[in-house]
Amino acid sequence: MKIAVIGGSVGNLTAAICLAREGIDVSIYEKRDYIGGKLRMVQIQGYDFEIGPTMITAPEIIEQFIASTGRDIKDYMQIRSVRHHTQNIFPQLNSFFLSTDQAFMRKQLERLDPVGASNYDDFLAEITRMKQAFEELLTLSPLVSWRQLLMPPARSAYLTLKPFETIEHFVRRYFTNEEVIASFTRYASYNGIAPNEAPAMFIIHAYDELINGVYYVAGGNLRLVRVLQQIAKEEGIRYYTGKEVTKIHVDEQAIEGVCINDELSLEADAVLMSVEDFKAQPQLFADDLTEVPYVPATQPTKTAACVMLVALNTHTQIYHHHVIYSNDRIREFEMLKRGEMPDDPTVYLYNPAFSEQERFLRGDALLIFANMPYTTDEQRVEKMKQRIYDKLAEVGLKVGDYLVTDQLWSPAQLTTMFDQYRQEGQMKKITQFLLNPILKDHQIKSLYFTGMHAHPSAGIAAAIANGERVAKRMINELVAKKNGYG
Ligand SMILES: Cc1cc2nc3c(=O)[nH]c(=O)nc-3n(C[C@H](O)[C@H](O)[C@H](O)COP(=O)(O)OP(=O)(O)OC[C@H]3O[C@@H](n4cnc5c(N)ncnc54)[C@H](O)[C@@H]3O)c2cc1C
Repeated sequence: MKIAVIGGSVGNLTAAICLAREGIDVSIYEKRDYIGGKLRMVQIQGYDFEIGPTMITAPEIIEQFIASTGRDIKDYMQIRSVRHHTQNIFPQLNSFFLSTDQAFMRKQLERLDPVGASNYDDFLAEITRMKQAFEELLTLSPLVSWRQLLMPPARSAYLTLKPFETIEHFVRRYFTNEEVIASFTRYASYNGIAPNEAPAMFIIHAYDELINGVYYVAGGNLRLVRVLQQIAKEEGIRYYTGKEVTKIHVDEQAIEGVCINDELSLEADAVLMSVEDFKAQPQLFADDLTEVPYVPATQPTKTAACVMLVALNTHTQIYHHHVIYSNDRIREFEMLKRGEMPDDPTVYLYNPAFSEQERFLRGDALLIFANMPYTTDEQRVEKMKQRIYDKLAEVGLKVGDYLVTDQLWSPAQLTTMFDQYRQEGQMKKITQFLLNPILKDHQIKSLYFTGMHAHPSAGIAAAIANGERVAKRMINELVAKKNGYG
């Protein structure tokens, strides 16, 4: 039994490890020259920039997975918590920190939002119920149509998730201070959606950040990929970089093999890949199937983002996670929707040197995100860079004085770098998130999927959990087939 895995990412490495531990022959083919997928490191003038995931949440999923391979995580890496993890700064220079320390949160709220302070316990209780309802829906298998959500056993959990409420409305039920409201509704703009349009269930991020906590991997989040690579190697998995799967050979809807870089055909009994990559690459099947499996989802979103990498020759007080807010966040999204550049953008800064200065001896290596419309116009991109610097200066962060070098990656560059295909229209639909992640294709036998990016609690931990889930299903089905029961 041979399995070809397309892409050397966190989710795929997890599934591959589970399969190899069952004695299955697994090879991973990665088209880029590095393993890690969206998790990667970029070096500029001797500064290490961590790109992609900045927050690790639900570390217990990572710990449990490593333990399930018979290993002790302590021998491989350390996952550390960031206590007061996010500093939110507002135009009037008020600060509001996000933390798992509930006494500290209540104290801040008593000063800024006394009504919110007295409602805080109820708020935490409701987001806990929502998180539990969400987890419950994930266990109901298979949940593939929205009608199932309205019927038992899914109905009660579905309604707990407030499917007809926006996150803005939800947060306003508990808090009255506009700055506090902005801090808690930002979970929608993580995904490029205006808070007054995003489903309330985006608040599940708050469960991760205010109850479960925010973490990082000592030595950099990329260490997680290195650990998975090491375990994969120890389990006998072969992985190759610079090897793009350009075709999946299918005969009578059964997988026969894969073609690498348009030149080498290899046999495979099953294929595993990210569902997002599958949707975006219908050409993988074009000659063998008359019908393209899914409509490709490659349209860029209107509310895209840019990323700036900024190297400084000093250490600043910029927090591990730091958000500088627009004066008018609703107007910001209205401008984005009209394809205009926000004149007063909300800016997110990631400064890993805040927690691990010893890794950044020369100074901070900042990663800065801001929403902006999708554009290939370099002048607009340059303008955005200036607006970001102006926004930082407004709150006293004159990083220009310590600048060593900077680079801005436009939304167009990011789409290519991250293979980011998701569409904002899909993200607004709550049912999109609640239907169980697709683990297997309905047309092609032995084509399995990892990945679930279009998801409010998507991320590294979800990719690992889903990797384990799909591997379990593959093992059951493929072993049954081998024994003549499939
Ligand atoms: C900007 C950004 C910020 C994020 N922030 C966070 C965060 O703070 N916290 C968090 O938990 N998560 C975050 N995420 C989400 C997280 O990065 C993803 O959920 C996770 O990386 C998904 O992993 P994956 O295994 O599904 O696949 P991916 O990381 O998408 O990797 C897929 C791999 O497949 C390869 N591939 C695709 N097609 C082919 C082919 N035909 N042949 C060979 N190889 C192929 C690609 O090159 C890639 O390496 C962020 C994502 C982005 C883009």
